[in-house]
Amino acid sequence: MRREPVKKRKRRKRLDNQRRSNIILWLTCVTMLTAIAGMLYLGVSQKIISSKYNDIVKTDLAKKECMSRISEGLYHHQALIFQYIISGDRSEDGYNLKEESEDVRDGVLSNLDKFGEMVLGQEYESYYYGIYSELKGYFTNIDNVLYFIENGDEETAYYYMNSSLNSYISKVNSRIEEFEKLISEDMAELDRQMDRRTYRSERGIVLILAQVIILSVFSMVTCSKISNQIISEDALTCVNNYEKMQKYCAKLAAQGKFSDYSCVFCNIRDFKMFNNTFGDKAGDHILVEYASQIDMFLKRDERIARNGGDNFIVIVQSERVSLFLSYIKQIEVTVAHGGEQNIVPVESYCGICDIQREDTPGAVFSSCNLALKTARAGGNSNFVWYERKMYDDMKNRKEILTQCQKGMRKNEFVVFYQPKVNMSDNILCGCEALVRWKHNEELIPPYRFIPVLEEEGMIVELDFYVFERVCRDIKEWLDKGITPVRVSVNFSKLHLKDSSFADKILAVIETYSVDTRYIEIELTESSAYDDFPALKEFVDKMKKNSIFTSMDDFGTGYSSLSMLKDLNVDVIKIDKSFIDDIEKGDITHEKMIENVVHMILDLNREVICEGVETSGQADFLKSIQCSVAQGYLYDKPLDHDEFERRLINPEYDIR
Ligand code: C2E
Ligand code: CA
Ligand code: CA
Repeated sequence: MRREPVKKRKRRKRLDNQRRSNIILWLTCVTMLTAIAGMLYLGVSQKIISSKYNDIVKTDLAKKECMSRISEGLYHHQALIFQYIISGDRSEDGYNLKEESEDVRDGVLSNLDKFGEMVLGQEYESYYYGIYSELKGYFTNIDNVLYFIENGDEETAYYYMNSSLNSYISKVNSRIEEFEKLISEDMAELDRQMDRRTYRSERGIVLILAQVIILSVFSMVTCSKISNQIISEDALTCVNNYEKMQKYCAKLAAQGKFSDYSCVFCNIRDFKMFNNTFGDKAGDHILVEYASQIDMFLKRDERIARNGGDNFIVIVQSERVSLFLSYIKQIEVTVAHGGEQNIVPVESYCGICDIQREDTPGAVFSSCNLALKTARAGGNSNFVWYERKMYDDMKNRKEILTQCQKGMRKNEFVVFYQPKVNMSDNILCGCEALVRWKHNEELIPPYRFIPVLEEEGMIVELDFYVFERVCRDIKEWLDKGITPVRVSVNFSKLHLKDSSFADKILAVIETYSVDTRYIEIELTESSAYDDFPALKEFVDKMKKNSIFTSMDDFGTGYSSLSMLKDLNVDVIKIDKSFIDDIEKGDITHEKMIENVVHMILDLNREVICEGVETSGQADFLKSIQCSVAQGYLYDKPLDHDEFERRLINPEYDIR
């Protein structure tokens, strides 16, 4: 069965994860909200119920209290009446007993009223009426008892007390007992209800907590899975990232299997061009497809990782590396553009390293990187195997770089000036500033250090160092009363990446107060196809500030004369390689130079030929109206003092 492409497989996984994380997010929110609402509801209702419960208990206790008071009052009242009867004392003492009994009677009745208010409209109301009628009977009879007493008939009074009043009291008491029993049962039932409610609330809280815990654990597990994937995966192509690849290689090394594999660093050739032609989105699509197609070739134990941009690392079994390289040569991607489906072959640069037993992943990656750099530098092949020499070269470059940095601080760089001569009168008409490095008693020519500085970006610093020296020298000559000539200064195309390049040049000119007529900025022809808009903007800004610009090494690249039409440079420098072929008997070549020179002049630009070494070459150039030359025929690059002498004596003694 055909393997599902990595991008589909992983994208599906990622979508699943996205969906899952969205669901988790929603679930978490909903659960949290329900949990909060549930807790609030349970807490509040529990509070309300328990306060209601407390109220009920309180009033029930108050009712019971009333009942006990009534019962106690009755016994007390009865005792006082008995005492009143038995004492037979109808003097003041006896009267006091009667008074006291009436107070007790009032107390009993007021407790009954209180009870009545409390049970009004309740099921207990019947007790109130029952007790009330019994008490009414009791007190009516007491009035009779008192009547008999006051009439001196204690016997009948006593009889009354014993016969009927006791029965009232026992009826009242039995009603009170009944009531107390009922209220105790009700309170016990209420207690049970409260217990049940509390149990239900507690169970609710436990359930909510359990739900929250389960959800938290679930989201933690899922989130850690997703974050693991994010940590180890490239977001665009869904293949492994560099860190994951490093870990995998370390694992192979630990198992002693690393040397069974080869490591290939791949870079897509002219990927920038794809982006420019088809747009960034199509560029992304190419990266995804490229990674996916490589992944389809790989076996289970082989790996691909994206190493940023259009760089990929592949670990492949050593015996399959040739097969892999043949496979990668044939990668094609379908790109939608301009309403059409274009099949685009995607070529790769590859740096390959055969892994040895003692190699660490870090060392292997560095070796592959060096091999890839060599492949990209444009040699014979797009596929380059790592060799020890590359490491030595790299070391050497690093050494040069460090020494250059030191050299710049120690002012070891000096500027030479190569004259430009007007061939019609053989008079010095300009010059080019060329840097030299005075290091350890040796004068090192630019080809030995400029490419390294260019590769590492340090050339930017050196160019401005040279430019400042030139401005300083011009100012010095003017101060000495020597008239200088226009000096062209070389600037690497790397400067065009800096949007403040033009402003920096203007700032230096201002610092040294140099007249712009003495300054010319040389940029190579290759700058034009790296970033034409940036070059055009720069040239226009120079023009606006009356600073000359020239296009160096014209004819060595792919730029055309029609491009010159859009670029406002003042001077075109025809490269030495064209001049070398003059006088070699190739008429077509000479005709071509003639036409190029004429076209440049037609475009109203100055033209200068570099590397003029013979008078024959000079004669030919003169014959085709090219009047300015630079070359050994007139002068080699001269040091400051030699050139100063040339400024004072600008005429050449040539035929
Ligand atoms: P270039 O800008 O094309 O400079 C002309 C080179 O041709 C100079 O080499 C010069 O000495 C050499 N040359 C001139 N006339 C003749 C001739 O008749 N015969 C021969 N055989 N050679 C001739 P140089 O000084 O070694 O510079 C080499 C390159 O280094 C320059 O090529 C330029 O690209 C770069 N360079 C020099 N100085 C600087 C600098 O300050 N900044 C930057 N960015 N590049 C510089
Ligand atoms: Ca130059
Ligand atoms: Ca040149």
